[in-house]
Formats: sequence, structure tokens, C-alpha cells
Amino acid sequence: MFYVGCHLSSSAGFLKMGETALKLNANTFQFFLRNPRGGAAKDIDDKDVKAFLELAKKNNFGKILAHAPYTLNPCSKDEKTREFARLVFADDLKRMEHIKGNLYNFHPGSHVGQGVPTAINQITEILNEVMVEAKNTTVLLETMSGKGSEVGSTFEELAEIISKTHKNGINELGVCLDTCHVYSAGYDIINKLDDVLEHFDKVIGLNRLHAIHLNDSLTEFNSHKDRHETLGNGSLGLEGLIRFVNHPALKGIPINLETPNELDGYAKEIAILRENYKD
Ligand code: FE
Ligand code: FE
Ligand code: ZN
Repeated sequence: MFYVGCHLSSSAGFLKMGETALKLNANTFQFFLRNPRGGAAKDIDDKDVKAFLELAKKNNFGKILAHAPYTLNPCSKDEKTREFARLVFADDLKRMEHIKGNLYNFHPGSHVGQGVPTAINQITEILNEVMVEAKNTTVLLETMSGKGSEVGSTFEELAEIISKTHKNGINELGVCLDTCHVYSAGYDIINKLDDVLEHFDKVIGLNRLHAIHLNDSLTEFNSHKDRHETLGNGSLGLEGLIRFVNHPALKGIPINLETPNELDGYAKEIAILRENYKD
């Protein structure tokens, strides 16, 4: 099954997102549970969720992907910011129990000069407290580009976070691979895709790869920048991105676009991917 979608506004609820996804010929989507800048979350309406779940089932949707707010930084130097991350994280995971069985993705954070080892300890300390709330949700670390002092731009750093986070007996951490980010971080998924995926498998395990963000990049390979571009108009190129989505190791993993687009642009990109997807 090919699960493809894009980032959608959650302001009108789950059913509305499902309906919008259908219009775009999508069968998954990504959304924020709250304002991406970290504001208060809206209450989840279980009637709305139920209506969405029916639509999703009827239309063979894949898992949907919630994205943590950008302001969530579990390895901030500032204790108050880390405390905020802990509270938001735990609250979001409780909310995810309204839509059991889906995915929650977050950025490992920026260590702002503290160094990676300290940051990894802070990230895993928070994870070890909040993961008990993820009873029916798979929590995903996003692969980062390494801009500024971002943690998680190497597979090794992500693997270390995973290994230091206790299994809560329910769900283990997974990974969401962002094509723009990994390419900017120096993983050549365009010319050496097999090697990169083999490396991912060895260090993290492909069984932990639960979601993909499909983006082209405005900046060149290994630039350590995080600038998304529409498919085919950046340094990765359409041909390479199509090869990527067709790689046998990645089949069935939900793919979401985070390209700079309005809905009609997303619809076009989804159509291109569907046309070029080989079952
Ligand atoms: Fe992200
Ligand atoms: Fe992303
Ligand atoms: Zn990005």
C-alpha cells in the first residue's frame, strides 16, 4: 500500500483533515496537536475523532502523524524550557490516546552550546518520564539537518537516544526520516541510497523507521541547513525522490510532504508521486 499525504491545518478538526486529505488524493496526513509555536491545545472532540476514523477506515488510510510544536526543546540550556517540553510532551501523548495507534514525531532539540552528551541525557530523561503516556502511540525522533546546535543529525545520535530510553513495555521509540534533513546532514540518499539505508539499518534498524517526510531542499548536499523546497525544484531533484519512495525497504511507510505549498500544490505533488509509484 502506498500511503502519501501532506501537512494539514488541524484548526477545523480531524474529520475536516480527513476530508481535505481525500480531496488531495492523500491517505495519510501530518498535523499539529496545538499551535506549532507551543500555545494551548484545543480539546479533542471524540465525536469528531470517531467520524474521522470511519472515513479513514473506509478509504484505507495509513497511520497519521502528529508533529510536536517547534518550541519543544527537551535539551534546552534553560530549565524552564525543558520543563515546558516535559509538560507539553506528556500532555500531547495523553491527547494521542484519543486517536490510538498513530504516530507522534518530535525534534530531539538544540543543545545551544551544552554539547551533545549533555543534550542526549536531558532528552532521554524527559523521554523516560513521558513515554509511559504513549500507551498506544509510537513516538518518533525526526532526523535533523544539523543546523545550529541541533541534535539528531546523525543516525548514531538517534540510536544513542533510543538506547538510553527505557522500554516502557508498550511502545518503543521510532524514527521519522526527513529527506531534506538527511541530505543536508550529509547522507546522500540521491546517489547512494542503498548505502545510506544499509547504514540506517545497521545503526538504528529499519524496523524503527515508521514515517517519512518527503521534501526537496533549497540548499546543497551536506549544507547543514533546513530549507524545504517543492519536489523537483531543489538539490535532491524529482528523479532521486521518486527512486527514494520506490525503494523496496521503504514500501508501506507513510510519506508526508512538508514542501512549501498550498493545497493545490500538494495535490499536484501527490499526483506526481502516485503516477510514479510502482507497486
Ligand atoms: Fe519536523
Ligand atoms: Fe520534517
Ligand atoms: Zn525541516
